[in-house]
Amino acid sequence: MPTINDVMEMAELLRSKSVVAVEDHCVAVRNRNASCRLCADACIADAITVGKNELAIDAGACVACGACVAVCPTAALVSLDPMDEDLAVAVAGAVAQTGTGTACVACARMAARQLGDPEKFACVPCLGRVTESLIVGLAAHGIEDIVLVDGTCATCKYGAVSPAVDETVDAAASLLEAVDAPVVIARASEFPPELLAHDALAVRRAARRGFFTQAGGYAKNVTMTVAEKAVADALHQDQKQKLRTLRERLGAGKSGKMPTFVPERNMRIMDALCQVGERTGALEAIMRAAEEGEAVANAGADAAVAPTDAANPATPAALSAPVLSTRHFGALSIDAEKCSGCGMCVMFCPTEALKYSTLEEPADEDLRYLEFQAADCTQCRLCVDVCLRHCIELSREVPVPELFDFEPRLVEIPRPKKPAKLFNRNRNR
Ligand code: SF4
Ligand code: SF4
Repeated sequence: MPTINDVMEMAELLRSKSVVAVEDHCVAVRNRNASCRLCADACIADAITVGKNELAIDAGACVACGACVAVCPTAALVSLDPMDEDLAVAVAGAVAQTGTGTACVACARMAARQLGDPEKFACVPCLGRVTESLIVGLAAHGIEDIVLVDGTCATCKYGAVSPAVDETVDAAASLLEAVDAPVVIARASEFPPELLAHDALAVRRAARRGFFTQAGGYAKNVTMTVAEKAVADALHQDQKQKLRTLRERLGAGKSGKMPTFVPERNMRIMDALCQVGERTGALEAIMRAAEEGEAVANAGADAAVAPTDAANPATPAALSAPVLSTRHFGALSIDAEKCSGCGMCVMFCPTEALKYSTLEEPADEDLRYLEFQAADCTQCRLCVDVCLRHCIELSREVPVPELFDFEPRLVEIPRPKKPAKLFNRNRNR
């Protein structure tokens, strides 16, 4: 039975935690050679420490702006304030109230001015919390007018996040442009006129109602978390003590291979883009281009259109396909001349965007195929960082047909003379 001290401790914990780390998704935890420090670079409060297989968030320093969540390629950082799903529901609910189809997200500073009708916009601590995934998801629901309202970032303590918000808006616009979505995403320092509150008393009432609803939800969360903690403490104390090594923390198998995970945010973005693309007709054209690209790559011999990249005969990069500049997906190429075939890239790719092919084998038995799926690539760069021969190039310029192609691209590499010994150095960490 939790004591009042447990409740106070948990309440403190919950209040101070806006972002939680899913450490086995973080590439810097999975491999100490990972160069990714995007979250720490984006953090305006120096609240994140990354390195030496550790990822730590100083909850006391965190200002809950959400900037780290938006930039993490592997979604290793999860916002609790609000959670993605809650935010999407809140925006959709607000859109239903407007009657104009405008989706509006405002920062807490702007909301506190009580100028906007609180029923007609969703509130976040800072606009840094808005992600491409949210914007593209709104577009999938047919919303074509999205407004992000800030309380004038120039004078805000979170102001340093403002360029990152612009980056998110630009990135979302590029994704939507790829499927011809007629969506306008705007930043503003005033609420659109149709979202303004006309009755100041009603606004105060709604704000008070919001406070009590929030307090109710908060109390429920505290109770649930306290109960979970009490049960977990009782049942798992011994087990927790034993989970000390990195291998154990990450669930690595005997070979050192860590469990992979599905890049859910990438999947959500792709699903949303496919829905939009179906509506606009762009998807059909993209799929046709993907099929034509494959046909050309398979034919291979046509000098006029054949790929020029001899290392990756199937790459559609040279097929003059439209290209999308994105931070959520990647385009990869391997220099087969330099590659030793050690397979470190495959070993460490956290999402299996890059893996050994089970589809087909090259005629030359000294060679083998890897499969690369651009939609599963999170641009985490771990394959690049672990490659001892520096033969992998990863680009944020992704050919649109390749991104939407359900068939992975085959990448030819040499077959190693003897299997590489992996992970011996980490065995006892
Ligand atoms: S993978 Fe995510 S949590 Fe890990 S260092 Fe990169 S941005 Fe930070
Ligand atoms: S292919 Fe490379 S960059 Fe893409 S997810 Fe895998 S390891 Fe990361």
